[in-house]
Amino acid sequence: MQHTRSLLSSVFGFAAFRPGQEEIVQAVLDGHNVLAIMPTGGGKSLCFQLPALSRPGVTVVISPLIALMRDQVRALREAGVEAGALTSGNTDEETESIFAALDEGRIKLLYMAPERLASAGTLSLLRRINVQMIAVDEAHCVSQWGHDFRPDYLRIGALRQALNVPLAAFTATADEETRTEIVTRLFAGQPPETFLRGFDRPNIHLAFAVKDTPRQQILAFAAARKGQSGIVYCGSRAKTETLAQALREAGHAACPYHAGMEADDRRRTEVRFQQEDGLIVVATIAFGMGIDKPDIRWVAHADLPKSIEGYYQEIGRAGRDGAPAETLTLYGPEDIRLRRAQIDESPAPADRKAADHARLNALLGLAEATGCRRQVLLGYFGEASTPCGNCDICDHPADVFDATDAVRKALSAMLRTGEWFGAGHLIDILTGTSTAKVRERGHDQLPTFAVGREFSKPAWGAVFRQMMGRDLVRPDPDRHGALRMTDAARPILRGEAAISLRRDTVQSASAGARPAV
Ligand code: ADP
Ligand code: ZN
Repeated sequence: MQHTRSLLSSVFGFAAFRPGQEEIVQAVLDGHNVLAIMPTGGGKSLCFQLPALSRPGVTVVISPLIALMRDQVRALREAGVEAGALTSGNTDEETESIFAALDEGRIKLLYMAPERLASAGTLSLLRRINVQMIAVDEAHCVSQWGHDFRPDYLRIGALRQALNVPLAAFTATADEETRTEIVTRLFAGQPPETFLRGFDRPNIHLAFAVKDTPRQQILAFAAARKGQSGIVYCGSRAKTETLAQALREAGHAACPYHAGMEADDRRRTEVRFQQEDGLIVVATIAFGMGIDKPDIRWVAHADLPKSIEGYYQEIGRAGRDGAPAETLTLYGPEDIRLRRAQIDESPAPADRKAADHARLNALLGLAEATGCRRQVLLGYFGEASTPCGNCDICDHPADVFDATDAVRKALSAMLRTGEWFGAGHLIDILTGTSTAKVRERGHDQLPTFAVGREFSKPAWGAVFRQMMGRDLVRPDPDRHGALRMTDAARPILRGEAAISLRRDTVQSASAGARPAV
């Protein structure tokens, strides 16, 4: 390890390993097959670059993005390391000089786009030179369920078998399905040594709040952090414009940012954000890919993000410098409905939709968490942890109550009306509100009519929202969004399982002026 430590500082200029890096480097050096799951920015490339220098022979790096390959090759060459990339963007001279360097045994790292593996010439080249290891960057591209599937990644498994060398795969995507597929396709089902580390960003404070007066909630959050650089993520382009306007009227420097803007305007905002202190960018998720500002002090979500992965990536832009940073994510039943509808209406096949619903459920579980949020978040990525002391629930433990009875009443009202109605009508029935719609359909004659008078309408709204958040009920797109029971609710309905819900959000809904559903 002494040797690798000295390479770490002499070649890469780093004083110490980041969490997880040293164990991975060691396993790769020992010639093991490795699957390393690390967050974006966690320092994956070092984990194959450093071992590549410590052992004889060439390390072949498969990477999906030409720009990424070029950046890494440039950085390596600047550090005095012989590296080259074979991509479709090369000139003939570049390719020739890489071939020559390979034949002379001068290259330590050979980057290659997966498409290259389709040519017989590439295979015979790789057989001729002394390949010591294959490193696969963005290994989730091998997964057909992922969003970045690259068919040519499927050739990597055969390459590993043909060369018979160890393979190290790297990705930031941690979900179980993707991981299983990586093991099947890259390692022929033989489990590699797996590492999962570094997802925690302990300096980022996590908080969620139910949308109540959403604009005021964001304005208040920004006002308490005036003069600090921050990002507000919105679900729509129009909202970025109106919210940026509202922030400006409240005396902040704020700009909208979305993919519908002119490229020049977008670039100007990126440059301003990078250079100025205290600018707020109100953006869609189009903002962020290239943002490398270390001192973003806060990130707010005015709407529920798409998934835990998205949430993690977006809040992860705050506090890169390690100093305290804060986040706030707003969500409400409208967000849940919208996200469910987006999944249901997508052209994806049924099992993909089911997987997307499950991903959304994981995010809602985080939003409705009754214990430390960081434990839920890290648990999703497979990392075990103890309560963090730096999230809203650690700050103020959630007050939960046994809601089994309330949930059964709600389910019963739903089932007795044939699962044809939304929360508003069901709440009228539960609270014994004799509206025209209730009377016309004879719902005032149901045994469930007025059985829920212990809660106000807004409190029932919060109960329904939490039921949606736990995926006990789901809006059915084929029934105009009417709520229907899921299998997860059956044990509760049958009295075989109990359920606790957060009392605070039910009570605050009750105290608040607007119903939550
Ligand atoms: P990713 O995991 O997203 O591929 P990179 O490998 O590009 O991340 O690393 C992210 C950044 O962290 C780079 O700027 C890299 O130079 C830096 N980095 C990696 N390892 C260390 C380390 N041990 N100490 C300090 N900086 C590091
Ligand atoms: Zn916590």
